[in-house]
Amino acid sequence: MATELIARPRLNPAAARFALKIKRSRIHRYGLFAMEDIPARRRVIEYTGEKVSRREMSRRLEGDFTYIFELNSYWGIDGGVNGSGAEIVNHSCDPNLRAQILPDRIFYVSVRPIKAGEELTVDYSFDAHEDPHPCGCRAKDCRGDMRRER
Ligand SMILES: [Zn+2]
Repeated sequence: MATELIARPRLNPAAARFALKIKRSRIHRYGLFAMEDIPARRRVIEYTGEKVSRREMSRRLEGDFTYIFELNSYWGIDGGVNGSGAEIVNHSCDPNLRAQILPDRIFYVSVRPIKAGEELTVDYSFDAHEDPHPCGCRAKDCRGDMRRER
């Protein structure tokens, strides 16, 4: 059984450090948007969810839609369960956020100044050995695929 697609994603304001909003995205379904200017190198939102083991992760990753962030080779966080809203941040090949992975928590941190109204994005950097994940992020230097050589 896979994680189900989140029908109506919601933002948990307690996890956000700036004014953010979930809106329809040009990239994919819904996205998370900045509602105020955000300086570079600031924690923007915590990626929350259910902590799941390797075995449970591989079971849930069989579906089409997942919101699992792999913390390390043993644990992942499934944002499909008690997610903060960070789980719906879309991929971009030229992202304005990066993940800061702590032993037990994940934060999305701004990599450059972000203007009010901009959609927040992160580079999913899927493993090169995974199935193709076509990308339509519209970035000038779009790789055409969400995977990345490591
Ligand atoms: Zn792209």
